[in-house]
This record gives sequence, C-alpha cells and structure tokens, in this order.
Amino acid sequence: MDNMPASSLLQSLNEAQCKAVTTDNPRLLILAGAGSGKTRALVHRMAWYVQQKGLLPSEILAVTFTNKAAKEMQHRLSQLIQVDPRSLWVGTFHAIAHRLLRYHSQEANLPDNFQIIDSEDQLRLIKQIVKQQGFDEESMPAKKVSYFISRNKEEARRANQCVVTTHESQILQAIYQQYEAMCFRQGLLDFSELLLRAYDLWQQHPDILAHYQQRFKHVLVDEFQDTNTIQYLWLKQLIHTNNAITVVGDDDQSIYGWRGAKIENIHQFTQDYHNVEVVRLEQNYRSTKVILSAANQLISQNEGRLGKELWTESEGKEKIQVYGAFNENDEARFIVTQIQQALRQGHDAQDIAVLYRSNAQSRILEQLLRQYDIPYRVYGGMRFFERSEIKDALAYLRLVRHQADDPAFERVINTPPRGIGERTVEKIREIAQTQQISLWEAAAYYIETTKGSKAVAQLTQFLGMIESVRVAQQSYSLPRLLEFLYQQSGLLDYYQLQASEKSESKAENLQELLIACQQYQEQVEADPSAILTQFLSDCALEAGSEIGDQPSSVVQLMTLHSAKGLEFKTVFIAGLEEGLFPSRHSMQDKKKLEEERRLCYVGITRAMNRLTLSYALRRGYGSYSAPTRLSRFVQEIPSALLNKINVSEPAATQNIRVNTSTPKSNNPFAIGSWVSHAKFGEGMVLNQEGQGESLRIQIQFKQAGCKWLVLSYANLKPLDTLRN
Ligand code: ATP
Ligand code: MG
Repeated sequence: MDNMPASSLLQSLNEAQCKAVTTDNPRLLILAGAGSGKTRALVHRMAWYVQQKGLLPSEILAVTFTNKAAKEMQHRLSQLIQVDPRSLWVGTFHAIAHRLLRYHSQEANLPDNFQIIDSEDQLRLIKQIVKQQGFDEESMPAKKVSYFISRNKEEARRANQCVVTTHESQILQAIYQQYEAMCFRQGLLDFSELLLRAYDLWQQHPDILAHYQQRFKHVLVDEFQDTNTIQYLWLKQLIHTNNAITVVGDDDQSIYGWRGAKIENIHQFTQDYHNVEVVRLEQNYRSTKVILSAANQLISQNEGRLGKELWTESEGKEKIQVYGAFNENDEARFIVTQIQQALRQGHDAQDIAVLYRSNAQSRILEQLLRQYDIPYRVYGGMRFFERSEIKDALAYLRLVRHQADDPAFERVINTPPRGIGERTVEKIREIAQTQQISLWEAAAYYIETTKGSKAVAQLTQFLGMIESVRVAQQSYSLPRLLEFLYQQSGLLDYYQLQASEKSESKAENLQELLIACQQYQEQVEADPSAILTQFLSDCALEAGSEIGDQPSSVVQLMTLHSAKGLEFKTVFIAGLEEGLFPSRHSMQDKKKLEEERRLCYVGITRAMNRLTLSYALRRGYGSYSAPTRLSRFVQEIPSALLNKINVSEPAATQNIRVNTSTPKSNNPFAIGSWVSHAKFGEGMVLNQEGQGESLRIQIQFKQAGCKWLVLSYANLKPLDTLRN
C-alpha cells in the first residue's frame, strides 16, 4: 500500500482493489469471490473516472442486477462524489433498455404509449392465442409457450429465427409468431422484449448506436456472471475502440442459468476483447472465518470452477447454528424467537435477514412475525405492485392511457363485477380476432351491431366510464385521477363494502396506491401529460417498489435469489431439505445441482457475523405433510463449524424426532406424541417446560396452530404416536 495514490477515494481500499479502480486499461475484468469488495471497487472506479479522469457522471453507464442494487450503487456513489441522480445511467438491463426505448420509441417502431406487460399478462395473451389455434391448456400449457418465447428472445431469436426440429416446436413457433404480431399491434412489450427491442434498435439505427458509443465513455457491469446472451450482445454493440468496459463477476455466484444466464460470458469476454486485464480480489471483508470456511468448503464440491480461495481477517468464532425443526411451524417459531431475542439484545431489525429457496416459505414466517409484532418486509414474492387489487387499479390506468391494451381490458372488464358475462366477452374476443382490432374497438363494434340487452347497456357504460377518466386525465394530477377512477369504476367501494379481513386489506392497499401516486407526483419532474405513462412503466419495472408507507428498520425476508449482492449481520436460511434446497427438479441433473450449490454459497456469504441454517423434519404440502431429509449442502460443511440443535443424523431423519435430549418414553405426553384437546382438536407435542403442577407443553394442533398449555388443566387425551 506504500505507493497508494494520495486520494481519499483510495484510502479504504486494499492494493488489488486500488489497481482495479485506477488502471487505465479500458478492458477490465474483476474476478473475485463473495464479499471481496467487487461492488465497492466498481463504484470507486466510477468515482475515480469522474474525479481523476474528468468524465461527467452522465458519460458513465452502470448496469446492475436488481433495482435494489442499483439504488444502493447510486447511494454509494453519491457518498463519494457529487452527482445529480437524474444525469446518472445506473440501473438494471431492463430499466436501461426501457429508458432507451422511451427516448427512441419512433425509431424502435413503438407507439408513444407502449406498455410493459408482466408475466401474468403474458400468460393471458398466450392462453388466448393457444385457444384460437385450437389447442387446450392441457396439450399446450401457456407456461410452456411463455418459456419457449422467453428463451428464444433471450437468445436474440425472433419467431422466424427459432430452431424448429420437432412437430411440437413448429406449433410453439407458430404461437410465438402470433404472439409477436399481437404484441406489436397493441404496443405491448414483455420483459425479454425490452432487451431484444433495444438490441434491434441499435442494430437497425447505426446513428443512434454511434451516439451512445460516443456518449458512454465508460460502461461498468456488476454481477456479470449472470448476463444472458441478449444482454451480452447488447453490451458488445455498445463497446467500440474509444470507450472502456469494466465487468465484475464471480463464477461461483452464477445463479440464473435457469433463466438463460451464461457463466461462459466471463470466458467469452476475455476472448472477444484484446488485452483484457484481470484483477483478482482475495480478501473477504464481510464474513467471519467460520462463515467463510463453510462457504469455501461447500463450493469446493463444484467442478470446473475458475477456482478462488477467499480469506478474511475477521475473527468471530461463533459457529453456524443448525436447527432441526419438527415441522415448518416449529422452524418458523424458532427463527422468529431468535429474531426476537436479537432485537431485545439491541440488534437493528434491518441487519437481520431470513432467506429461503421458495417464495411460498415466507407465508408462515410472516404469520409468526406478525404474531410477535416484529416489523418485517418481504422482497420479491408478492410485491406491492403484484397484488391483484393493485394490478386491477393499474390495469384501469393502462386502459385509460392506451385503449388498445387488451390484457388491461380483459382484466377490468368485469372487475368489480358489472354484469358483463363471459359469453359477451367471448364474442368481443371473436370480433377482435376476425377483424384484427383491439378488444376496445371490438366492444364498440359489438355495441353498435347488437340489439339492446343488459350486457350491451353495461358495456356502453363501461366504455363511457373509461372515456370520462381519459378526458379527466388531461387536467387532473395523478393522485386526483386515481381517486376519480376509484369513484367512477367502483373499485374501492367494492372492497370497502365487503366485510371480510381480506377485502379490508385490499381496500387499504388501494388507499396506499393513492399515497404512492401522491409521492410519485411530488418526486418526479415530468410533464403532466407524460407522468401517467412514466408511472405505469416504473410500476411495471418495479422501480417504484419502495413507494408506500414502509417503516425504515424492519427484518428483511427474501428468496436466496433476490439476496444477491446484499449483506446482513445476521442471516437465517430456512428449509435446508433435500427436494426443497436443493430443489426437487435439480436433483437428477448435475449442472442444475451445481447451480443450487452456488445459490447456497450466495446465501451463506450474505452473513457477516451470525448464520443459522434450519430445516424441518416434516414439511406440509397443501393438505398433507411428508418426512424430509437434511440437505446435502449442510452435510458438505465440516461439522466442526456447526453447532447442531435437535439435528438427527441423516439416516434417522425419516423418523419424527424433535428434541434429542428428551427421547420418547412411555409418557403419553412426551415430545413427539399425539394428543387430542376438546376445543383445539388433534396435535403433536413439540416441547415442554416446567415441572409438576406447572408443567407446560407446547402442542402443534392440526387446525388451531401452536399453543402452550398447562398439562394439569388442559385435559388432554393421548392418541397413538406417530400419526399424522
Ligand atoms: P458480492 O459478491 O456478495 O456482491 P462484493 O465482492 O461485491 O460481494 P462488496 O459488497 O463490495 O463485495 O463488499 C463487501 C463488504 O466489504 C462491504 O461491506 C464493503 O463495504 C466491505 N469492504 C470491501 N472492501 C473493503 C476494504 N478494503 N476495507 C474495508 N471494508 C471493505
Ligand atoms: Mg457485489
């Protein structure tokens, strides 16, 4: 570090990081393991180029993987140098492609008010086409078609460029073709289309490409190991002899192969560009020795790695806790009580994260966190903008903005119910199909050509209502417009007037959307005519997922995939069971299994000081529960690093064992026994504390949840053991 340049930008970096930040080589690859300061080096390099090389912040393009990471990057950058966030191009591939397409919609052959559709809308459209082609959902599931379309788009293939080898792929191609035409007609773009269209834009307009090649003097990409073909090709278009590219990656953290990401892009990069400088970082600054060795050991089981070994100075001898829960309720209870303890000891809630493999695992954790009054936030999963009532409201706004938006039309035509039956909607679809017009136009045609009926009257009213909101849009602010829409459509009333907890919360969410609109209107400097379009796009890209009334310090819940790049002092990883993590469909396939192992590596390396792994000996799937086996990933970590609680050895995990310190005896209320209670029904004994008169036992009831009862009062009846 002796020769470290005297700049405050370099003060907090090690030698290798300094090299990565300051090198003049315009082709740089930073290749390093988790927590080694790759992102830090990337951000400092951006600042270095502004401060020392005279670049304007607007001449830098930085691409990250999630909106959260993009925000974090902007934040870190603004702490180093003064930047106007509006001049910065920092975002996900999707967000940047979207920005380009908005600027150049005409050249990209898009209507001004083009709309981004999400996977649900996409499935809706596909289902329609599948039906029109004479197939049913069973012989041609919409999900299969959408997978086919996305994979092809990610490989930069349009419908007429698909590889067609079988009869089935011929059919899929034909549907893709129809889908392409339909989206084109309606000005709709799915997520993969954003990138493909941005790529085509540059391909077909060399003048526009040249402009951006001149403009972006330095392009930086974080999490490069997870780029897919179209993203790679898009970057390649942009890089020419006069601009620089820095990519940052870790082959051990490539976790999006299932979505078309290619680790090979790292190798490809060194081949496609001359004189690529590779900087390796080996010191980990994030985790304790124990956590890091566990991660290193685990990942060493994978073959064909580029091979990196990380070391850390961070002491911290606390072992990794492994908890073998009786079932998923017990697992959640354990995690939540541990969180409660940590909070009582003064830990900050936002430093605690619970990670899981599948979104569905969050439900039970959420339930318990609410019970314990612990504030939390779920990232991914059911995000605010994915909730059905919010999507309804947004679909209304979309239809107001762009009447040819068929998925929006379909979504709200009968929400709230207004007596327009499926038969009428089907007729409208038929008209739209035969005349190749939008559903909106088809509905107008239907009204004109059909003799008065109740449905026609309702339909007329519906179109009139949307039209009145469209007119209001010209003079109303965004929140006012939404309020007017709620009134006219009856959407808010529909939920407010139903007396169930669920609809009450839906009504609250709709109110929250109003607040979000209010905040959006205040924050964004957009021309009033453009604000609705911009708001809708931001919602679709989920850039706005931060909006709303969020408490600041909350426990973070998210899937392992969305935890990429983040770090927390305390981390729980739940559900370490064969079939769940690694997932069932990866277990027979070595490549997929290795990707799951990398995902586990990502999870473990999120933890700074404390890590807990848990699994349930039985897990419920719908109405039944099945025994499980401890994940191989836990077994690949040396035992010396683990502190096992209630963990059965692998061979014994088929049996129900809850607490090894209290083996089952003749006692009918021993842990693991089944009992019946007059009010709560049947349940299994999970735990016990106290003695004699005050002996309390904890029971997981099938229907009534988990309860502590005093044995001498509870009047429990013993049942056969080991029943379910
Ligand atoms: P991941 O692979 O998970 O994305 P990463 O390699 O990008 O990790 P960073 O997030 O940049 O790593 O850094 C990990 C942590 O280490 C951060 O808290 C960061 O502030 C800290 N850190 C990085 N470099 C140094 C350094 N030289 N001195 C002190 N702390 C550092
Ligand atoms: Mg990082």
